[in-house]
Amino acid sequence: MISKKAREIPPFIVMDVLEKAQELERSGEKIIHLEVGEPDFDTPGCINEACYRAIGEGKTHYTHSLGLIELREAIAEKYLEKYRVKVSPEQILVTSGTSPALLLLFAALLEPADEIILSNPYYPCYPNIIRFVGGAPVFVEVMEEEGFQYLPEMIEEKMSQRVKGILINSPSNPTGNVMTSERMAKIAQFSPYIISDEIYHGLVYEGKAHSILEFTDRAFVINGFSKLYAMTGWRLGYVIAPREFIRPMQKIQQNLFISASSFSQWGALVGLKEAEGDIQRMRETYDRRRRFLIPKLRALGFGITVEPTGAFYILANAKRFSNNSYKLAFDILNQTKIGVAPGIDFGSNAEGYLRFSYANSMKNIEEGMKRLEKYFAKYH
Ligand code: PMP
Repeated sequence: MISKKAREIPPFIVMDVLEKAQELERSGEKIIHLEVGEPDFDTPGCINEACYRAIGEGKTHYTHSLGLIELREAIAEKYLEKYRVKVSPEQILVTSGTSPALLLLFAALLEPADEIILSNPYYPCYPNIIRFVGGAPVFVEVMEEEGFQYLPEMIEEKMSQRVKGILINSPSNPTGNVMTSERMAKIAQFSPYIISDEIYHGLVYEGKAHSILEFTDRAFVINGFSKLYAMTGWRLGYVIAPREFIRPMQKIQQNLFISASSFSQWGALVGLKEAEGDIQRMRETYDRRRRFLIPKLRALGFGITVEPTGAFYILANAKRFSNNSYKLAFDILNQTKIGVAPGIDFGSNAEGYLRFSYANSMKNIEEGMKRLEKYFAKYH
């Protein structure tokens, strides 16, 4: 009786590891979570205060289905200030997280069997959402030896009449790679739409992330508050789209979601204007952890050819230990009580890798490395 769509959508394996870890936690184990892509920081105080204020003032109703105009204006200002690109608030649709933004966008863009090009490794939900709305993902292999760069030449090889869009994600989950502006400019010249997931923008430790809108208007930007503002539980994101797509996506939003949460939007509005100091502090802390973790993982025997410079992930080559990342991740969890994400969750090209998230305290990361040193001693 269960639909084919529901039967066929794969689980998000990282969530399986997390749930197993939580089960161990309930039985009294002290688990170190290096598997989840979620900031360990609390949401900045100014955002919380704005949300309490909004609730106190009775701002607890539906908002406009496109989102609060004040928030859309502030997002447009942010893109102007950061990237010197002009976006109209009318091109912005606010959603309950970037995940629904991806659903609305692909639902509005894809006919059955239309193709979207994406990198392998990829963020697991991308191909699942594309297939869920009837589209077909087409993968470009990105290689560790090249620092997991997503190369325009390889994208070009996959181009055909059926390709409706090219998905890019810089800084990238799971690789931490940041795309250069030259590569982004080249990709922007390809004819279909470019879909740019910019959710890790602001979390860049060397160099600078560029928005796709600096290079083309035939683009959709996906972004949200979960990572940079440490607001995962608030469920707030947005899409910036070519004007002709706004009304179609708005209709889908009205039917599926009505609007994003009102008080989350009031909180985020203050975040955009006042949280810069908190963001700076969080970014510096992530960077310190990154610099600590890379040499530690290398000393344990993991391969990291090119150092990741963005997001809060390290995709480490674990092939000298095992070619079965799923088994290895669960064995590490059971033996050492450390959660790590198995590469296979991010595509066939990440099999044999483990993804470490440094969105956890230095104390926990240090303790985690001590436990892993003991675990991997048997391989040396
Ligand atoms: N895109 C990427 C690349 C992500 O890593 C995540 C979160 N793991 C999301 C989108 C979804 O974020 P949210 O729905 O919380 O905005």
